[in-house]
Amino acid sequence: MTALSAMLDELMGKNRNAAPNDKTNEIHWSDEEICKHFLCGFCPAELFTNTRSDLGTCNKVHDEKTKQAYQASSRYMKSGYEEDFLRFLQQCWQDVERRIRRNHQRLQLSEEKTQKVQQAPPTGAEHDEKIAMLNDKITGMLENIERLGGEGEVEQAQSMMKLCDQLKEEREALQNQKGGVMDPFTVQEKQMEVCEVCGAFLIVGDAQTRVDDHLMGKQHMGYAKIKATIADLKEKLQKASVTSMAERKRIHETANDPHPVIE
Ligand SMILES: [Zn+2]
Ligand SMILES: [Zn+2]
Repeated sequence: MTALSAMLDELMGKNRNAAPNDKTNEIHWSDEEICKHFLCGFCPAELFTNTRSDLGTCNKVHDEKTKQAYQASSRYMKSGYEEDFLRFLQQCWQDVERRIRRNHQRLQLSEEKTQKVQQAPPTGAEHDEKIAMLNDKITGMLENIERLGGEGEVEQAQSMMKLCDQLKEEREALQNQKGGVMDPFTVQEKQMEVCEVCGAFLIVGDAQTRVDDHLMGKQHMGYAKIKATIADLKEKLQKASVTSMAERKRIHETANDPHPVIE
């Protein structure tokens, strides 16, 4: 079925092309081709089209009139459709919960990494002490080199010079590092958080327009709808089962009562 004809079916009913007196094959809500999720409320396949949560297209019929006929029928809430719908939505919700957990872990990992980078260079007293130690060594070596040179020990003086150069390089590296130690307040990256509804990464304290864009986005709206519908369905189904239990109990009692009260 093309998207356009599906849309027209949804707006005007399956028999939109039939003349008033035509005998049409009226479709019934229990027909195989009818999307039962749609009868219970909405078709989840339509929530996330063209997003990364896309559930694929539903090739069953979504028809408002059929939905109304079902909801007005005596089988409403008694055909097991709502239970199936609830199970399906709970599965979708489990998927997004997994994504929320995974993104929390990713966020935590990246925060730990940033902290490690900041802590990596030796800081403060420990750092200064290393440089002072190298200074002492280098001064001592230079004195020795001078003495060896004076004594004509050119080879020894040269090999000690090499060592001394190495220590100087080491000292330079440490000094550069000290200059490079970043102020934790200036390097603080934008703080992120995970949306507890759709699992997306959000910037803490982001501009209101961007927050609104997120809240109105297909994925966020879709999962918010799933969450609300799950709660709603659970309540409805519980009420329905309490009612039917009371009904069964009443029938049972009436059957056992030798003098039933006829209402
Ligand atoms: Zn459907
Ligand atoms: Zn969200």
